[in-house]
Amino acid sequence: MSNVNLTPETTEAVSDAARWTAHNYHPLPVVIAAAEGSWVTDIDGKRYLDFLAGYSALNFGHRHPALIAAAHTQLDRLTLTSRAFLHDHFAEFCQRLAALTGQDLVVPMNTGAEAVETAIKISRKWGYRIKGVPLDRAKIIVAANNFHGRTTTIVSFSTDAAARDDYGPYTPGFEIVPYGSLPHLEKAIDADTVAVLLEPIQGEAGVLVPPDGYLTGVRELCTTHNVLFLADEIQSGLGRTGDTFAVDHEGVHPDMHIMGKALGGGIVPVSAVAGPTSVIGVLQPGEHGSTFGGNPLACAVAIEVIKMLEKGEYQQRSAELGAHLHARLQSLVGHGLTAVRGRGLWAGVDIDPVLMTGRAVAEALMHQGVLVKETHGSTLRLAPPLVITESEIDFAIDRLEAVLGP
Ligand code: PLP
Repeated sequence: MSNVNLTPETTEAVSDAARWTAHNYHPLPVVIAAAEGSWVTDIDGKRYLDFLAGYSALNFGHRHPALIAAAHTQLDRLTLTSRAFLHDHFAEFCQRLAALTGQDLVVPMNTGAEAVETAIKISRKWGYRIKGVPLDRAKIIVAANNFHGRTTTIVSFSTDAAARDDYGPYTPGFEIVPYGSLPHLEKAIDADTVAVLLEPIQGEAGVLVPPDGYLTGVRELCTTHNVLFLADEIQSGLGRTGDTFAVDHEGVHPDMHIMGKALGGGIVPVSAVAGPTSVIGVLQPGEHGSTFGGNPLACAVAIEVIKMLEKGEYQQRSAELGAHLHARLQSLVGHGLTAVRGRGLWAGVDIDPVLMTGRAVAEALMHQGVLVKETHGSTLRLAPPLVITESEIDFAIDRLEAVLGP
């Protein structure tokens, strides 16, 4: 870590964090104390443009006034009931999320990984109770280079050594196929297959957009073979790509929408699975649950998030400003970048490895007042809040251009 140019206060905070926490992250040496909209301020009073937005958990920016107001109101009234009782925001949250996804029923959870686990459990139960798969034979097909979370079952089907190694014994019942290939997927589907679990755009892998028609083809194969299509929209959904969901780009309706991150408005962890009654209806009392899932504070904030998405304004901002972002980035290909991918206000950019590592670019940008994070060596993931302006995008890309050199 290059800690040159850091104040004594920041140096101390960075070393205290390293002293007292497990080293399962490698954060940039910036210690944030306050934030608003697209900007954060560190403990030294220096401001930075946030070009990561909490890996899309902050799609509506930091402390969006409508979301903060909803949270404050709820904090003064009711925060937790558990699912042993109902509360007065619960049905509205589920109804609005069902309408947003075009699904029948919602299962609220907290983190993304829990929502993915929920979708896996429901698919297996659906396989045994409805499809007629012999007990303990259910198979779920996933893609290489996936990222669906960190639980023991989810890392069991990861192809990323850092995420998976030394966590065995692994959960069986998953087959991995290349992302974007319909022939491989078709070959993998057999009578025991209950679901195909995919990110419509692979985020952690470097914002990999599948070939046109892939999602449509997945939908067709799943329908033909009576297999559930589970779309993990935890990072790609809720306005990030210029549509409400990334599957909307191809007009595809999955059997389950898996959501998280931005659903909690950057305030509380809120995740959920939404699907048809014929599938979600397999769950009976006591068969699945979560103490905090669907709590009053989470529902109050998420209702405001959904209301903002119902208007379509953020999806439109993402599409329009995303076009500007991608045009600016494309002009850097051959000038420090080797490739740019993505959709809407979401981009994976490959830095020319001859020039610099992704980490070195992220650190240099931090000193220039722009926060980004590298993924997998020489790739940067850019995901600014959807409240960002065109001139703020230019501010960031001008600095990226300067860091990459002439
Ligand atoms: N699925 C996808 C596509 C993700 O990007 C992530 C997190 O980055 C997850 C699942 C896991 O979410 P969480 O970290 O909230 O468990």
